[in-house]
Amino acid sequence: RKRIGVLALQGAFREHRRMFEGLGADTRLVRWPAELDGLDGLVIPGGESTAIAKLLAIHGLYEPLRAAHAAGMAVFGTCAGAILMARDIEGARPDQEPLALMDVRIRRNAYGRQIDSFETAVPFDGVAGGPVKAVFIRAPRFADLGPGVQVLAAGDDGEPLAVREGRALAVAFHPELTDDDRVHAYFLESVVGA
Ligand code: GLN
Repeated sequence: RKRIGVLALQGAFREHRRMFEGLGADTRLVRWPAELDGLDGLVIPGGESTAIAKLLAIHGLYEPLRAAHAAGMAVFGTCAGAILMARDIEGARPDQEPLALMDVRIRRNAYGRQIDSFETAVPFDGVAGGPVKAVFIRAPRFADLGPGVQVLAAGDDGEPLAVREGRALAVAFHPELTDDDRVHAYFLESVVGA
């Protein structure tokens, strides 16, 4: 069984945990550096990226998380999690440090206010069975991708909605707020398992 950590500082971490448990993974809530030990993968949930950044710093997680990823731990970020994985955050608060796990620039709150949230379906490379369900809540937009970054899903106007760079996967939406677990299955099988 794969061991998946769920960063549990703020945001929709319970929903991610439920999805990974349903797919047969062992899960562990992660709040402190020692809890990263022995993980095959980690999910950074959606929520509020400024709050998560603050708590990452208070909990001393920045360097241990980067080191664990460099040593092979796969990382999956959704929405606020995707924001934190970028090397560069447009619209960051002054004290909001990116984890810089991926060579992408990302723009916060690119899809407007909370009230503009919506659910849609997006085709996703490597996922069979048709488009995946996706909930957008004040979603970020991937603004600039480095040469090693692969686009797995894109919107109607061509903007990237899911990107991958090696053992890092970031999506602008919330698959964990739907009943569709295929993006989580993709992470387990193709990113963690790769
Ligand atoms: N707008 C939020 C942020 O900047 C992200 C929203 C989300 O995770 N649903 O952190």
